[in-house]
Parts: sequence; C-alpha cells; structure tokens
Amino acid sequence: SDTAVADIGLIGLAVMGQNLVLNMNDHGFVVCAYNRTVSKVDHFLENEAKGTKIVGAHSIEELCRKLKRPRKIILLVKAGNPVDQFIEQLLPHLEQGDIIIDGGNSHFPDSIRRTKELEAKGLLFVGCGVSGGEEGARYGPSMMPGGSTAAWPHLKPIFQAIAAKADGEPCCDWVGETGAGHYVKMVHNGIEYGDMQLICEAYQLLRDALGLSNDEIADVFEEWNGGELNSFLIEITRDIMRYKDADGAPLVEKIRDTAGQKGTGKWTAISSLDLGVPVTLIGEAVFSRCLSALKDERTRASHVLTGPRGEQFQGDKKAFIHSIGKALYASKIISYAQGFMLMREAARNENWHLNYGGIALMWKGGCIIRSAFLGDIKAAYLKNPELESLLFDEFFQSALASAQQHWRVVVSQAALLGIPTPAFSTALAFYDGYRTERLPANLLQAQRDYFGAHTYELLSKPGEFIHTNWTGRG
Ligand code: NAP
Repeated sequence: SDTAVADIGLIGLAVMGQNLVLNMNDHGFVVCAYNRTVSKVDHFLENEAKGTKIVGAHSIEELCRKLKRPRKIILLVKAGNPVDQFIEQLLPHLEQGDIIIDGGNSHFPDSIRRTKELEAKGLLFVGCGVSGGEEGARYGPSMMPGGSTAAWPHLKPIFQAIAAKADGEPCCDWVGETGAGHYVKMVHNGIEYGDMQLICEAYQLLRDALGLSNDEIADVFEEWNGGELNSFLIEITRDIMRYKDADGAPLVEKIRDTAGQKGTGKWTAISSLDLGVPVTLIGEAVFSRCLSALKDERTRASHVLTGPRGEQFQGDKKAFIHSIGKALYASKIISYAQGFMLMREAARNENWHLNYGGIALMWKGGCIIRSAFLGDIKAAYLKNPELESLLFDEFFQSALASAQQHWRVVVSQAALLGIPTPAFSTALAFYDGYRTERLPANLLQAQRDYFGAHTYELLSKPGEFIHTNWTGRG
C-alpha cells in the first residue's frame, strides 16, 4: 500500500541500521526501511524482519510516501558524503517540518552545517550520536541527539523507548542545538580512547612489572570490576585476559601490538587544541596509538636504545596491584574532568546549553564507556549544575586524596622500571599543574617578551601589559 503507514523511516541497512530497525519494531513502532543497494531491503524483509510489522521501500520516493507526517527519517550510512547525498535525494520528497536524523558517526561541524542548511529550507535536522555498537543498537544504545530543537518532541517517544536504561531512566535526552549531539558523541569516543589506554597501561604493569600470568591479570580485573572501577571496558578486559587460543595459550598475547583508529579520538584532541582546553589524557591516548603503530621502528629502537628493560618490581606485589587500581581510578577521574571541561568550553563557544548531569546519565548505560563511575559524575552535576570542574566536587576531591599516594608510587615505579605509562603520568602532571597556584609561566612570559616583545603582566597589576628591554641596552 502507498498510504502513510510508518511512524519512522530508516536508510542504511548495514549492521547498525538493521539492528535499530528491529529495536524500534520491538517497541511497537512501524518502521519503513530503505537501502541504497535495494536488494538488501528485500533480503532484510525476508530474513531478519520476517514476521514483524516492518515495511520496506524500493525508492526514496516510496519511502517518503509511506511515512506519517511530520516525516522522520534516520540515516545510518557511512559518515561524510553519503549523508549529504541522501539529504539531497530526500529534499524533493519532503515537506515543511519533516525531520532528517543522522545517526552515524558524523563530525560535528557537518552537523552544525546540515542543521543550518535544512532549517533554512523549513526542515528539521538532528545529528544523533549512537553508541553501544551492534548489540547496543539492537537492545538499547546510548543516544545523543542534537540539532533542531523543534524536532525533539516528535522523536522523544521513539528514542527514549529504544534507548538503554540506567537507574530506570533512558540513556537518551536532548543534548542541545546544531552539532551538540555529535560533539558530545565525539567526546564520548575520546574518553573511550582514554579509558582503553589507561586499562592497557595497567595491564602492561601487571604483566611486565609484576610478571603476572593472563589468568592472574583476569582475576585482578575481576576484582576491580566489583568496585569503583566497575565498567563495561574492565569487564571485557577480564574476558579477553581469560580467552585461550586453540593451543591453550592466551590469544591476546599473539595479537600484533599496533593500534588502529578511525579518527574520533583525534577529532577530540584537535577540538581541545582549537579551544585551548588541556585535554591531555585523550591526547596521550591518541599519540599512544600512533606510537604503537610504529612497530618496525620501535623494534629497531629496542635494539639500540638503552634503559631498564625486563626488570620487575621488587616490593610487596599485592600492595602494588592495589596501587595500580588506584592510579587507574585517579587517572580516570582526571580524564573525565578534562572531557567535561572541553564540553563546557565548546558549549560556551557554540552557544549550546548542555546539561552535564544528563550527559553523564546518557553515558551511564548502553555505550562503551558505561560504568558505575558515571553515576558519581551525574550526582556531582545534580548537586551543582554550575560545577566549574569535577575536581571541585567533594566526592572526587576525596577520591583523589585517597588515591594519590598510590598514583605517585605507580608513576614513579613505572619510570624507574622503564615501563611507559603516558596516560597515568599525564593525568598526574595535570593534577599537579591544576592545583599549583604559581606555575613557571612567569619565566615563559619573560622569555617571550625578551625575544619577541610580546609583553607581560605583573602579579600586582593584572591587565596592564608591560615590555622590558631585557638586555639593558637601548
Ligand atoms: P557502514 O558500513 O558505515 O555503512 C553502510 C551503509 O552505508 C550501507 O547502507 C551502505 O549502502 C551505505 N553507504 C555506504 N557508502 C555509501 C555511499 N557512498 N552512498 C550511499 N550509501 C552508502 O554501516 P554501519 O557499520 O552499520 O554504520 C552506520 C553508521 O553508524 C556509520 O556512520 C558508523 O560510523 C556508525 N557506527 C556506529 C557504531 C556505534 O557503535 N555507534 C558502530 C558502528 C558504526 P549499500 O548497502 O548500498 O552499500
């Protein structure tokens, strides 16, 4: 039938799209599915979608005809040009007030542009970050929608029904204007890079500084998962440590130590440089992946560069394991504090009205960085929505106070043993820098003024810019 039967349309029947369609169907919504390679529509209807209320379309025009108004169309296609191409194809078939939603991993400047372009045409655009991978899309992702605010009331019942739930609340709420949804998704991915790097550093210390077996390391992660470090990434790390190859040896030790990346961590780091926010931990996490990728060069360097190698920690093993867990926890607090600092600055810059407690709730379930810890962040912002930094919250202050001696021991021991811990170390350096009232930037200003007449301010006269002739000669 060509009558408008469907509540929502979806374009892009790859793994994410198919799962999201099935998820919406489970919650009672009638979905119309379309794909560029049209044969995939029929294949989907005859297989995965068999026996459901899902309908298909074999053209964009048919898709638009089958949608109730205002039309709601989700794109789950490759980020970049394909999104713009589908928007172009949809335009002739849409009417005022119809809504296009991009659920892919789009870069936020594209979402800012698309919101403006479509609003100028009387349409609504939503850039929605979706996290949780295939499993999340199927049974409850974390969803971060932003863009045309007028679209939200139409999407809210569907999105909040299909999203993951945490503390009985949906892990999906309106994030903000224009590119805010994709921005917050980008920071989520950056934080994910940081969390993964921290876990990898803990693993290297457990393996190389303490000589633990993979099963023993799995036991450590198991224990950590029962406490303040409880999270999806700690949990899967435990499982990965236990996983044996066909020959009975741990598979993870056979994997080539070169990290891949798709760019969302890099985007976060670039944004932090653009905005001048010291998001050092995510930066280190991205650079650590880059360093790991230089495998052949590192192999050559390992033969010629001296330093401690293969030495083990000589003290109390059990105590050191405990300290590594505390260093991981403290570093994680710093990483999230930096991530929220970045979102705060981006919001100021783009005039977004972000709800930080709501963001923590959206990340608490469904997504890759889901954790108990995000509940504490949510609580901190609930207590004080205007919180300048997570590091001004009492809960996190006392958490850092009790972790920090362990953190210092781990970073210094790692340095002595020659084991790289870039993320642990940069987090500690940030913490010490942040709590230092007088940094050596006075000298830096003097140097800049000496060679470039860039001027400086006196402590006693801020706002007044002075130049000195440092050589004392005219
Ligand atoms: P994908 O491989 O990124 O994209 C496949 C879909 O895009 C197919 O429908 C394909 O159509 C279409 N497509 C590809 N190139 C196209 C082009 N040049 N023009 C028009 N259509 C094109 O699929 P995916 O892995 O399901 O991901 C979909 C989106 O979700 C992506 O943006 C991805 O980054 C994001 N994603 C998110 C997560 C997450 O955890 N949040 C996980 C995976 C992916 P054909 O069938 O005709 O080729």
